[in-house]
Amino acid sequence: MPELPEVETLCRQLREVIVDRQVLSSHVIDPKLEHLPPLAGKTVRSVSRHGKKMVWTLSDGMCLVFQLRMTGRFFWLEKDEMPPHARLELFFRGGRLVLSDPRRFATVQLCSPPAPSPVPDGLEKLEPRRLAEAARRRRLPVKSFLMDQKTVAGIGNIYASEILHEAGIDPMRPACSLEPAEWKKIAALSTRILEKAVKSRGTSISDWRDLYAGHGEYQRQLRVYGRKGEPCAKCRREIRRVVIAGRSTFFCPECQK
Ligand SMILES: [Zn+2]
Repeated sequence: MPELPEVETLCRQLREVIVDRQVLSSHVIDPKLEHLPPLAGKTVRSVSRHGKKMVWTLSDGMCLVFQLRMTGRFFWLEKDEMPPHARLELFFRGGRLVLSDPRRFATVQLCSPPAPSPVPDGLEKLEPRRLAEAARRRRLPVKSFLMDQKTVAGIGNIYASEILHEAGIDPMRPACSLEPAEWKKIAALSTRILEKAVKSRGTSISDWRDLYAGHGEYQRQLRVYGRKGEPCAKCRREIRRVVIAGRSTFFCPECQK
């Protein structure tokens, strides 16, 4: 957390308040971010995203690259309040942007524009053949394969469980064992589920909040994630939880083979 839909939500909201606006001043609060030079005078030209990574292009051609990791959040504030765990503060005309991050794992880098990634983003049309090719000889569970950011950028623990339930595929199966028709399902459903989650401004199952501290709403549409012991929406059999590669995984033993 946050995964692609949450970062995409943030990017869309940020575009409305910071694009073509100048940073009036910047204030590093957390010593872990002391490598950042002052940002005053730079104008944000664009806000883009690849997977879970957010990139701001600045008027001097440089980029700010943010990885929110586990608990990084951005809040837009118009009053003088300060959210807890603030690490960085950027002042704009009309408001101020605060990076709040209790675990302090989020990273911020000022750098030259990053090279385009060869890895497809989860909101692009995924090529089933390319997924099948990448999975050849990969014996790891298909769920871990989908969460590998070198396979598809942006899918994390929650959406991997949801995609595999919708596709009817057992999350523990080795990635290399899937048939072409199953990759076709995964490719189509990944994009569809991620798009739906973006429309709901992400999943607030734990502590995800958007730019205005609002909850996402996709948690209401989750079919398996966090629903251990509840009946499956498709077959009514009990949803189970297993741990795969250290991460909670939810699935229906009846629907997912
Ligand atoms: Zn089921």
